[in-house]
Amino acid sequence: MRLRNIDYHVCDVCNLNCGSCNHFCPLTKNKRFITAEQAYKDFRFLHEFGNKFDKLTLLGGEALLNPEIDAIIASANGAFPGRVKFITNGVDADKLISLKQILTANNVELVVTEYPFKEGWKEHYVRLAEEFPDMTLYDYRVEHGFISEHLSYDVQDTDIAKLLSCEKRYKCVQYVDRKLYICHYAAYLDNLSYVSEVPFTNEDSYYDLEKYTEESFDAFFGKKIPEICGHCLYVKKPYEDLDKKPWKRTDRKAEEWIQ
Ligand code: SF4
Ligand code: SF4
Repeated sequence: MRLRNIDYHVCDVCNLNCGSCNHFCPLTKNKRFITAEQAYKDFRFLHEFGNKFDKLTLLGGEALLNPEIDAIIASANGAFPGRVKFITNGVDADKLISLKQILTANNVELVVTEYPFKEGWKEHYVRLAEEFPDMTLYDYRVEHGFISEHLSYDVQDTDIAKLLSCEKRYKCVQYVDRKLYICHYAAYLDNLSYVSEVPFTNEDSYYDLEKYTEESFDAFFGKKIPEICGHCLYVKKPYEDLDKKPWKRTDRKAEEWIQ
């Protein structure tokens, strides 16, 4: 089994506060920033499993807030040349432009997610697109709205085949402390647990890379259904039927993520 992508959070904080952020960043009490030294160790460790995934994506939170982001990008590319993606909201345009050399020299795939965060935001992103002609401008949330159906306190009667076919299981796997969490909801559930009593854990939702065997890796990503998946609303309906809301800043309340 080969995963399409592994996400690597360089920090949990963000300079936006988007309603329905699927990493729960607006709720975080965790001001964790990955140091360049830690990232280097993580990438060296992950390198042993380089044949188990295609891309490594650096993101947050807002990745540009990490003061050592330049060294982290260089280090990621050293371990996975040509396989690194960098996702940012681009709010700090000057900071992003200051990384141009390191991003282009390392052939890093740049994805900027567009948000209507201020007057003149369209021009803001036009400027970035001029600076980075190869970047992908991801406007999905602005165009289609944020989904507002994430998790449920109750167990949902979603069928097993549907849960196993969830695209997040191979596209949004999260690396945290030598573990691979099945998706962002699972990896950052603690952010939600700070503000609400959540009746399930994420204890069964990660694969421990320190105990790697090919068989157990394949069994986990191919067959395991962690408890959290039974509470997932995202996977219950086709994407087009999910409730979507226009982009807005959140009130930082649990009910914006769990019903
Ligand atoms: S910019 Fe991204 S990480 Fe930040 S709050 Fe919005 S959705 Fe979450
Ligand atoms: S919690 Fe939901 S989004 Fe995450 S892997 Fe399970 S079904 Fe997919």
